[in-house]
Amino acid sequence: MGRPLGQHFLFTQTILEKIALAACPRPEPLVVEIGPGPGGLTACLARRAERLVTVELDPELAEGIRGRFGGQGVEVVEGDVLQTDLSQWGEAVVCGNLPYYITSPIIERVLALGQVLKRAVFLVQKEVAERITAQPGSRDYGYLSVAVQARARAEKLLTVKAAAFRPPPKVDSAVIRLTPIEGMDRSEMAGFLRFAGLCFHMKRKTLRNNLAAAYPLEILKDLPEAGLRAEQLTVAQIMDLHQRLKAASEAGA
Ligand code: SAM
Repeated sequence: MGRPLGQHFLFTQTILEKIALAACPRPEPLVVEIGPGPGGLTACLARRAERLVTVELDPELAEGIRGRFGGQGVEVVEGDVLQTDLSQWGEAVVCGNLPYYITSPIIERVLALGQVLKRAVFLVQKEVAERITAQPGSRDYGYLSVAVQARARAEKLLTVKAAAFRPPPKVDSAVIRLTPIEGMDRSEMAGFLRFAGLCFHMKRKTLRNNLAAAYPLEILKDLPEAGLRAEQLTVAQIMDLHQRLKAASEAGA
């Protein structure tokens, strides 16, 4: 069993500074921190942000942050990050040592901010960092890699050993940086993500098999990549395939 609310805290100053520096290479007008806990990262971010908004679910920890940083440009929202509108403060850098039990929904929520997101720097489970930053043909490349890389440049910056946390989790961690890229509008992206989900539905199956439920066979049989698996295609190639299938479906409708 993991800790309730994923509470593994980091106090190693050099690592905390590196995370804050990756999030704020220069002073930032607004930073949103997810899950400040006892405030180690909060202190480093507060030195680089004019305004720091923290979102913490645990009432005792939220109270601790208020007591330690109140009146120093640090605000505390006590609540669930998955229920909090992260766009309400305007364009922001988002940062946090994430509670691992909800890493994917947090990343999805943060990427859905679109242009309101300046960049995101997160400490996540190492395996998740590897999946997020993976390239085609590698073991870790899959839906998560495509869903993130379709919206952001994804970099793995450093690995953090489990022993650096109190209490230590069962797995090592890694810091990732996500820098949004201009792309599709919200509804186009939603359509693309559904398509990418279909492509990777059964990872070892060919695109022809995975897409058969959604597209007629006479369209699929003409695709040069029909016999390939989604994991062999780059994000750009999956986007291009989506466009061609959309056009072919519309032409046939
Ligand atoms: N930032 C601190 C550090 O580095 O030591 C704490 C990181 S700890 C891995 C994750 C933090 O997220 C905890 O403080 C936990 O209470 C908080 N948390 C867990 N679930 C949350 C949620 N749904 N919304 C907001 N905060 C949450």
